[in-house]
Amino acid sequence: MQVLEEDVVVVGAGVVGLASALALQRLGRSVVVIDPNPPGSGASYGNAGTIADFAIAPVGSPALLKRLPSLLLDRQGPFSIRKGALAALLPWLAQFAWQSLARQSQDNMRAIAALTGDAGARWQRFAADIQASHLIQNKGCLYVFKSDASYQAGRRDMTRRQGFGVNVELLNPGELAQLEPHLPQVEGGGAFFPDALSVSDPGDLVGLIASSAQAAGVEIIPESASRMSPQKRQVVLELGNGVRIKARQVVIAAGAHSKFLADQVGDLVPLETERGYHLEFDGESGRVLRPVCVAESGFYMSPMAGRLRVAGTVELGGVKAPPSPDRLAFLSRRVGDIFPELTTASRSWLGFRPSLPDSPPGHF
Ligand SMILES: Cc1cc2nc3c(=O)[nH]c(=O)nc-3n(C[C@H](O)[C@H](O)[C@H](O)COP(=O)(O)OP(=O)(O)OC[C@H]3O[C@@H](n4cnc5c(N)ncnc54)[C@H](O)[C@@H]3O)c2cc1C
Repeated sequence: MQVLEEDVVVVGAGVVGLASALALQRLGRSVVVIDPNPPGSGASYGNAGTIADFAIAPVGSPALLKRLPSLLLDRQGPFSIRKGALAALLPWLAQFAWQSLARQSQDNMRAIAALTGDAGARWQRFAADIQASHLIQNKGCLYVFKSDASYQAGRRDMTRRQGFGVNVELLNPGELAQLEPHLPQVEGGGAFFPDALSVSDPGDLVGLIASSAQAAGVEIIPESASRMSPQKRQVVLELGNGVRIKARQVVIAAGAHSKFLADQVGDLVPLETERGYHLEFDGESGRVLRPVCVAESGFYMSPMAGRLRVAGTVELGGVKAPPSPDRLAFLSRRVGDIFPELTTASRSWLGFRPSLPDSPPGHF
């Protein structure tokens, strides 16, 4: 059996793994990245493209907790659970419910705000460094509240965010129409985050991180990590092809797939996945000028290079089950409510967003 000796192995070539690999290589380490799939083809490819320094509200909140039972049973809503996965999810759901209580939710909001406060400035510097500035858009991001009731709830939410330094402008329906002239008239209003940045092609962005990493000396090996065991001064990784790597250090950056590897080294992270979906409509990027989130339905319409990406919904249910036609139909109906002409998507996608009960990474 072939045994390789390496300094640092990064498992996973998503945005987290590749950015970590590049930073470590530049610090003088010798880095190998392993991933059976092309760089940036996981969640880092299919997301809504917002650099969401304004999205500091954790998923779990007292309001969501009250609605949780009905939301979980409502297959037509923005938050759902795969029935077959319910038993396995119970421990995670119990932690999620606890983290949704008022004090915990407020603490989690503070933690997310601290982590994301300078995300825009950091991404701008990083994008310039990896020749990706052309992929960063600076037209802000927008939440649309269709009904007055949801606008009023949104106003309260925005006041809390302002308390943590988020710059947000509340818009009446007329102001909203000026900002996004192609949207239909709404009764509620909008919340505009003028400083927010977005990405016109998340897959290309990760591709450029991969190129910079390789140019700096990082090697990318197209294999999966199947087993991992810590030894005295090293970690042994077994790859899908049977090759073993003895590494001084391993970074587990396999996104939502990280749990089974972390478990093997005794790191019992309460990691689940929010299964997220997108639909794309080629040639329709001009429908909106910036990422627009329809608050009641929890999805984004993001203008991307040559296409409109409609991304979102949260479905709990693990990384193995195939895409749910229900979820795609939900997205399709909701985008149809806004733009009835968009009847046939050019493509659809399911991806796995890593998710912790309290929302912020590294804070549980
Ligand atoms: C629909 C949707 C919309 C989103 N919108 C936004 C947004 O607007 N803004 C935002 O900030 N975030 C958003 N996110 C979340 C964001 O995309 C993720 O948090 C981020 O991409 C996670 O990056 P990652 O590198 O950890 O994981 P990934 O990009 O999923 O990368 C993990 C990699 O690990 C590899 N891998 C898995 N198992 C193994 C193994 N055993 N061995 C080796 N490699 C392995 C996979 O092939 C994959 O390439 C969204 C997510 C979804 C699903």
